[in-house]
Amino acid sequence: MSHAILSPSSAKRWINCPPSALINAEAPQQDTVYTREGTLAHAVAELKARKYFLGVGPRKYAADLKKLKTDELWQDEMDRHTDTYLEVLKDLAAAFPEPPHVALEVQVNFSEYVPEGFGTADCLMIGGNVLQIVDFKYGKGVDVDAVENPQMMLYALGALLDYEAIYDIDLVRMAIVQPRTKAEPATWEISAEGLRRWAGAVVAPAAALAAKGKGEFAEGDWCRFCAIRGSCRARAGANTALEDFGMKLPPELNNEEVARALTLGQRLASWLSDLQDYALRACLEGREIPGFKAVEGRSVRAWTNQDDAFNAARSAGVPEEMLYERKPVTLAALEKLMGKKPFAEALADYVTTPPGKPTLAPESDKRPAITNKTTAEDDFADELPF
Ligand code: SF4
Repeated sequence: MSHAILSPSSAKRWINCPPSALINAEAPQQDTVYTREGTLAHAVAELKARKYFLGVGPRKYAADLKKLKTDELWQDEMDRHTDTYLEVLKDLAAAFPEPPHVALEVQVNFSEYVPEGFGTADCLMIGGNVLQIVDFKYGKGVDVDAVENPQMMLYALGALLDYEAIYDIDLVRMAIVQPRTKAEPATWEISAEGLRRWAGAVVAPAAALAAKGKGEFAEGDWCRFCAIRGSCRARAGANTALEDFGMKLPPELNNEEVARALTLGQRLASWLSDLQDYALRACLEGREIPGFKAVEGRSVRAWTNQDDAFNAARSAGVPEEMLYERKPVTLAALEKLMGKKPFAEALADYVTTPPGKPTLAPESDKRPAITNKTTAEDDFADELPF
């Protein structure tokens, strides 16, 4: 069995849906532009951390960075985001009473609980009976929370097992740095004893089933990265439970039923999108999905050569000023252009943030709830004659 089968990054999936582990192990790995972009950003982040913590010399640093910048996926904003990562590492290290032991891109082993289980932690720091685990995430599609995050907990478990013979560790702190999503890292902490309890009670039994392809299929938000998310029968079964509503309690749903339908509907929307991706791939590969086919989508006209086209337009008598529009840059674009600090210094007085349009969100959303309902005080104030 390859070590990647029960990896920390897929832990949420295989802990909740153990049989998905072997299914995913057999599926072809899809290397996307986003995964390659993440790999490049990690290499830059690691290099910067090595320079600061482990003393990589300036010449080697400059040469290595220059080489990384030649990658076709390099973007200038990668420099800024990896700087943010390094600043977080510095702050975390400074929070230790003494300079901690720092290890970067370190392999940690948790095979005591998970068959052939190991992974690579971006950064760990140890000192003063505290283990700090840090994970750098370059993606911006999904805002990753650190609370009870199984990936982080497995890195921490492996580090605890690897280092406990050398260091006393009572407390484990975790930080996820996702600079493209938010400036502050997501953090959480657990006692070393609590981590071991979780490993024994939750991880070990799930891993034993997952390694043999056994256990129950279970649908949830972890399906998002599963190889069979579009065609999975368990997921289809969970989502078609929506049909129950056709049979129930006409003429109106009560608010609890509305809440349940919304929850199921969100999952259904995500499942439908995966199902459509799966069916399109099948049609393009020449497999038959009865009643459906792949067709060319709507296409937008484009110039074969814009300069030549504009020259032809001029020759046809189109005035120069009609060929170009002058538009103000957006606030976000100007901030990117100037940099956050100079932008704030020069223009903060001209920036306002109006309240956003009300939107429905799950209870777990971090933003406070808003309401149009008036309070007794408001009503009373409205009635006052002055
Ligand atoms: S799609 Fe979801 S339920 Fe189905 S195997 Fe994958 S993780 Fe399990």
